Amino acid sequence: MKIARFSVGGGDPRYGILDDDEYVVLTGDPMFSGFETTGERVPAAAAKLLAPVIPRSKVICIGLNFAAHRDEVSNALHGPEAPLVFLKPNTAVVGPGDTIQIPPVEGRIVHEGELVVVIGKIAKRVKAADYADVIFGYTIGNDVSARDQMFADGQWARAKGYDTFAPLGPVIETELDWGNLDIQTFVDGEPRRHGNTKDMLHKIPEIIEYVSDIWTLLPGDVIMTGTPAGLGGFVAGQTVDITIEGIGTLSNPAQNRV
Ligand code: MG
Repeated sequence: MKIARFSVGGGDPRYGILDDDEYVVLTGDPMFSGFETTGERVPAAAAKLLAPVIPRSKVICIGLNFAAHRDEVSNALHGPEAPLVFLKPNTAVVGPGDTIQIPPVEGRIVHEGELVVVIGKIAKRVKAADYADVIFGYTIGNDVSARDQMFADGQWARAKGYDTFAPLGPVIETELDWGNLDIQTFVDGEPRRHGNTKDMLHKIPEIIEYVSDIWTLLPGDVIMTGTPAGLGGFVAGQTVDITIEGIGTLSNPAQNRV
């Protein structure tokens, strides 16, 4: 089931289940109030998609979770036995079609197309075997990064935390078999990054166990699971498209911040 969060004519956000080219409108946020429908249907073309979730407390990110990407950015620094984790603020989240606002910084702005786990329950010290119990669904994320600032700062709070540096969407797929999915990133239609979730160094059950041992996860928190190989930046005026099988395409134009 594909769940969208959307607005019609600038109205309040609503939730719907995608059914062909329409959304079946739900009475509330299905994460909290289930899948009861209002009986209304909204044509997809009339709906402005919004970020399918606004993380309640945190955007958790897994770094260097594909060997080919780890080797291209940091061959000597990391060979972590455990997942490398960091956080983005929830204020970095924007939705499909929203503009990535490029701040006036030195160096490349880089796209990182990633499969994103959406947490659906309060989760603390979850065993890997029970990981599915706390997941609401899956979406696509772009872990936008100011690459030179990552190296200049020695940590990533600034480089990856700017407003608009965490696009999410277009929808949440609640029934995804995540083990063997292509992840592709395009800039203005040109292929840039390509990988498959089967090559994740740390799989989703292990990630859930690891991060829920550090932090209590709240419904609506998200986990970005890492990008495959294929370095590349983008500049103002270009559009980044990230496609993951079974979910769809997250598309965001970029402009210089004004
Ligand atoms: Mg990343």
